[in-house]
Amino acid sequence: MRTQFFILALCLSIGFLNAQESILGFTPESAKKQQQLEAAFEAKLDASNLDEWMQLMSAEPHWVGTEYGEKNAKWIQKQFKSWGYDAKIETYHILFPYPKVRLLELTGPTSYKAKLTAVPVEGDEFTAQGEALLPSYNAFSTDGDVEAELVFVNYGIPSDYEVLDKLGIDVKGKIVIAKYQGSWRGIKPKLAAEHGAIGCIIYSDPADDGYGRGDVYPKGAFKNKTGVQRGSVMDMPTYPGDVLTPGYGATKDAKRLDRKDAPTITKIPVLPISYEDAQPLLAALDGAVAPQSWRGGLPITYHIGPGPAKVHLKLEFDWKLVPAHNVIATLKGTDFPDEWVMRGNHHDAWVHGANDPISGMVALMEEARAVGELAKKGNKPKRTLVYCGWDAEEPGLIGSTEWVEDHKTELQQKVVAYINTDGNGRGFLGAGGSHSLQAMVGEVARTVKDPQRGVSVKERRSAVNMVNGGTEDFELYALGSGSDYTPFIQHAGIASLNLGFGGENAGGEYHTIYDTYPHYKRFKDPEFAYGVALANTAGRITLRLANADMLPFEFKQWHKTVSGYLDGIMKQTKKMRKDVEKHNMMVEKNMFELAADPKKPFFKPKKKESIPYLDFTPLQNELAALKASIGILAKADVSKLSKEKRNSLNKRLMLAEHVLTSEEGLPRRSWFKHQIYAPGFYTGYGVKTLPGVREAVEQKNWKEAQEQIAKLANTLKDFDKHLQEMAAML
Ligand SMILES: [Zn+2]
Repeated sequence: MRTQFFILALCLSIGFLNAQESILGFTPESAKKQQQLEAAFEAKLDASNLDEWMQLMSAEPHWVGTEYGEKNAKWIQKQFKSWGYDAKIETYHILFPYPKVRLLELTGPTSYKAKLTAVPVEGDEFTAQGEALLPSYNAFSTDGDVEAELVFVNYGIPSDYEVLDKLGIDVKGKIVIAKYQGSWRGIKPKLAAEHGAIGCIIYSDPADDGYGRGDVYPKGAFKNKTGVQRGSVMDMPTYPGDVLTPGYGATKDAKRLDRKDAPTITKIPVLPISYEDAQPLLAALDGAVAPQSWRGGLPITYHIGPGPAKVHLKLEFDWKLVPAHNVIATLKGTDFPDEWVMRGNHHDAWVHGANDPISGMVALMEEARAVGELAKKGNKPKRTLVYCGWDAEEPGLIGSTEWVEDHKTELQQKVVAYINTDGNGRGFLGAGGSHSLQAMVGEVARTVKDPQRGVSVKERRSAVNMVNGGTEDFELYALGSGSDYTPFIQHAGIASLNLGFGGENAGGEYHTIYDTYPHYKRFKDPEFAYGVALANTAGRITLRLANADMLPFEFKQWHKTVSGYLDGIMKQTKKMRKDVEKHNMMVEKNMFELAADPKKPFFKPKKKESIPYLDFTPLQNELAALKASIGILAKADVSKLSKEKRNSLNKRLMLAEHVLTSEEGLPRRSWFKHQIYAPGFYTGYGVKTLPGVREAVEQKNWKEAQEQIAKLANTLKDFDKHLQEMAAML
């Protein structure tokens, strides 16, 4: 019975694979071998391993510096060793604040003391670990003791401050309260401080991930009234990683900044709270009623203030150096040991982290186990594989950043690509990264089967895109920040990918004490079917990069994408100009006043400065030149090239992404060196493509915009030169 089933399954899976005739970067002969290897790899993946390992690694809280975190790192190392890897632990010594004092109280006109504690729930023993649970806080908030009137600022993002301006409300000298979501959390205290606020409270509104979305935990997956999202508020858009050692590894004897000089610690104290604790504060506000779009799901009228609600916020942290343990496991390549394909996922969590990050970590491990078994049977990768389990991702991508900074020169010479994963759920493949890898990832997505629908994960992705008004094409999203790919792509200029499944596993557990194994089993990926799909997808990508005759970088899709980014900026500039013209005309004709309710206070808007014309032609010309070079390169036929020629082409292909960086980096944040992708200075995780130009336009800094156009054109020129040199080798 069992054998018959196996043969049937094998036939089915080969039938699935046959849908694809060729593989990018492989000769027909080696493509056949690769397909067999990938089928054998897939057959080894076992969901029960993921389940078992998650239970083990998420049994106790394991943030950086904890005993359990160290235990996990050592256990991961041991597993890798048993699978035939050379596995070591590389430790860095990083600044990590632990909360000593957390006090938040409403001092007028009524009084309330915030509880700041999430309650244990029935059916989930992990939530009852009491003292062992990390108190809720925002890491890298500064110490502080402030008391002031409260102002509600919606999500606390730039557009919200524009609304406040129109209403004549100033947050200077006040404490702001902002909802979670709408941007990365660290943007909220950063903007509040820039506007003169002296404290910042962030709460999870029930409309966003509580009872407004569905039943709350433990009945459903969403946030109950006591749940609090932890998280870092370090100014990561300036630089991520250890706050005391920017740009170099936080080794034991590294020179460190004085904490008071560390630019990425917040300027004002900031604390996250639950909606149970937020409600009395918000209810005590008066003043203007919040605009419709600002209102959340609490049974109150949302007022903006300022006051009469007055709050007292006091925070003190124990600022100490703790060890961050990265696990680095290497499987040496047979043909090209100095060409590395890297895979990584973090292992530290805020609390138990069953979903974030263990669901991704166990998928990475199962992938590595299967690859290791194949290698033991003689199927060794041609290039070296390096699997990484990062520590201290949660407080600010610290483990990976310190490791990359410490090994930067070697990595820039040897790494072909870095493939990242993090928490994984159920649903659709999300893939982001360097667009030179888009064609290859699209091919792989066509070979991986969706566990629920039986079609390829690519077909499912296309279907959901089309239903939501997108395109049928398989596209990588551009990488901003939010996980460990950031130091690789944005600092070191190494081609990178980020992979994960999601879209059908919504909940409110993120960074709370409720991200546990029971929650994961009930609401995320109960059978670990998508954990296996992730191992399958990432593993095939890793194996293709490891064994390709010619590295599967493809630049036509890259060109189309980057041209689209430029087009977008040009259109945006045009729209900004039209909007300003219209606004100024309406001011001149007094239309704002005529449209306003005369019984309400009115603040007359000012005329805006007109938008000049920028000269984008240097970029248009470079993109045209690139199109020609890419056309020549695309004609390269891998099966007609000699081995020597392929090898020397590969050496240059590996370095292509690095040519897209500039050593001086972006304005005011030199750590970010990539000229195509960066996290937004005012969006945090959200990406800004062609960031030098785009952010200058958005900030209306026209002189800088024109300078950045010239700078980007130079980068593109260098890139064209690099591709031309490869084309000449054909
Ligand atoms: Zn994570």
